[in-house]
Amino acid sequence: MKQARLDHHFVEYIPEQLQPGVLYVSLTFTTVVHLCCCGCGSKIVTPLSPDDWRLTFNGATVSLAPSIGNWSYPCRSHYWIHEGTVRWARQWTPAQVQAARARSSQHQPDHSSQHHPTSAGHLQRILRQLRRRLAPKA
Ligand SMILES: [Zn+2]
Repeated sequence: MKQARLDHHFVEYIPEQLQPGVLYVSLTFTTVVHLCCCGCGSKIVTPLSPDDWRLTFNGATVSLAPSIGNWSYPCRSHYWIHEGTVRWARQWTPAQVQAARARSSQHQPDHSSQHHPTSAGHLQRILRQLRRRLAPKA
C-alpha cells in the first residue's frame, strides 16, 4: 500500500525492524532510513550531508530534499517527502536514470551511487564514525 504520510522518529540507532510509514532519523549517524513508500518493503537509506540529502525539521514535521528516487530498486518509486507528506513524482524514465547516474559519477568518480539511496558507501562512513567514537582518546 502506498504511504501518504510519514511519521518521524528520532533515534540514535536505526532499528532492525522498520515500520512502514515511519522515517527514522539518526542524527548520530546523520542518516534517515525508511521503508519505500510504495509499500514494496525496500529499505531506503538516505545519508544526510551537503552532497546527499538535507533534512528539515519544522518542529512538527520533517522534509527531505532532494526527492527520493529509488531507481535502483524494482519499484522505481520517485517521491518527495515534504512536511511529513509523501508527494509522488513521476517514475524515472530510462533516460533520467542515465542522467542521474552520469551526474553522480561526475560528482564523485569512484562513488557512482552518490545520489540514490545506498548502503555500501554510507556504511563505510558509519563504520569510520563508529571507529572514531570507539577509539581510545590519546
Ligand atoms: Zn518501492
